[in-house]
Amino acid sequence: MTSRQRAHASEGRAGEAYAPAKRSLGQNFLVDPNIAAKIVSRLGITATDTVIEIGPGRGALSGHILAAGPRAYLALEKDRELAARLPLAHPGAHPALVDALRLDWSRLDRLPGVKLIGNLPYNIASPLLWDICAGSALFGRGVFMVQHEVALRLCAAPGGRQYGALTAWTSAFARLEYCFKVPPTVFRPQPRVDSAVVAITPLPAKERPDDPASLSALLKKLFSLRRKQLAGILKPFWTDALARSCADLGIEARDRPEVLSPKQFCALGKLLKTRQPS
Ligand code: SAM
Repeated sequence: MTSRQRAHASEGRAGEAYAPAKRSLGQNFLVDPNIAAKIVSRLGITATDTVIEIGPGRGALSGHILAAGPRAYLALEKDRELAARLPLAHPGAHPALVDALRLDWSRLDRLPGVKLIGNLPYNIASPLLWDICAGSALFGRGVFMVQHEVALRLCAAPGGRQYGALTAWTSAFARLEYCFKVPPTVFRPQPRVDSAVVAITPLPAKERPDDPASLSALLKKLFSLRRKQLAGILKPFWTDALARSCADLGIEARDRPEVLSPKQFCALGKLLKTRQPS
């Protein structure tokens, strides 16, 4: 086959109708090129960057990513058909048939500075960002579209209704920035809810929690009882000595979990680690 015939064959396959969108894979495809360009521009791609996209789907972001001229563009897609068809429409894309939820994100640190992007399936965005923020300390920047409500939770300040375990966990590892809201009308099929784009930058290694496992356990415990006061939730551990150490950290017995900052959770986790229930 000549290169011209090959190019033609690719166009033919790329032009074929796609299988219907799969709800199980959160397939709401972006169909507005202006929004796609706006999302990609937030990543600030340069010629030395390696870009990894999670869930490229039918390639709504791919052309914009490639047009920005990165050194390499890898795309992780769980849908076999979409992974196979991506390079037909976008020859510079290197797809891998992968379940992003099963990846060990610490392996990203072999590629320091790698940039991440994705219009994430709503149903996996929270666990995926939980894992990415804690797993990799050396990615350069991430730009992700998520359900609007999740974006508000990710970027919430302590004290509000949106602030929860996901906020405290991701903010302990990274700086999160709310970028802009996206309406349902720019997707096919249209979702029932708004979306929003968030940008994520890892914190320097010395500012990240040194004991993620105890922080994770503490956050899950405290936020499962978020309306209760700390001294009540931590009753078996809440001695006078612990109360004094907490006071030094600005934490009071009557505080509810939602008022603690990520740094206070890390410090509280450390205090509790060395204590036995009374
Ligand atoms: N980026 C495309 C766009 O903006 O139109 C597609 C976005 S669509 C919301 C989410 C994409 O993620 C789909 O292509 C879906 O097949 C893929 N996906 C779903 N679950 C995945 C997983 N666990 N790992 C990798 N990709 C996944």
